[in-house]
Amino acid sequence: MRILLVEDDMMIGDSVRSALRHEGFAVDWVRDGRAARTTLATERFDLVLLDLGLPQIDGLDVLRDMRARQDATPVIIVTARDEVSSRVAGLDAGADDYVLKPFELEELTARMRAVIRRHAGRADPVIEVGPVTLDPTTRIVTVRGEPVVLSAREYAVLEAMMLRPGAILSRAQLEDRLYGWGEEIESNAISVYVHQLRRKLGEDFIHTVRGVGYYVGAPRAGA
Ligand code: CA
Repeated sequence: MRILLVEDDMMIGDSVRSALRHEGFAVDWVRDGRAARTTLATERFDLVLLDLGLPQIDGLDVLRDMRARQDATPVIIVTARDEVSSRVAGLDAGADDYVLKPFELEELTARMRAVIRRHAGRADPVIEVGPVTLDPTTRIVTVRGEPVVLSAREYAVLEAMMLRPGAILSRAQLEDRLYGWGEEIESNAISVYVHQLRRKLGEDFIHTVRGVGYYVGAPRAGA
């Protein structure tokens, strides 16, 4: 999951970014409204965490701009503006949820998962592919009913594939899901995670399409 964090407060931004990275999210962080607008116009994210009081362009305008461009990326407003009128304005402008500062990181990540799940249109949060199940809420992965322990990054690679069974994901697409800007990417990282996942989930669970990428489940027609 790739997240855009829009936050001008260095301390909050830094702690949210490290907490989310620790949970296996890839986090890109911009610090003003103009940078947010440019980034959103050119890159794709799974979710945006949007502060409202921002230098250059207000967060609310960034959001209105996204929705005007038909950009449906889920947005959670994270702000200290606690008046009912700001909350209504945020939701009316197309926000998916609204979190007030100060907040507990646990609550923020729980809301993020809920929004991502709603956005994917799944009533049942547990994803099942063959013998493997993955629950994005609890992050519990099972094989034939037995829980398996995965590192945050192994989990992130598996989740990216299980969210789109049958779709081939290239190494670059998987790296995109794993790393934010400025993070060092080891050249063979994805092969290593896939290798570890195969060891834990069964050698034939993740399929390789040589020179193209990886997928789980039945291949899509034409793939
Ligand atoms: Ca701010």
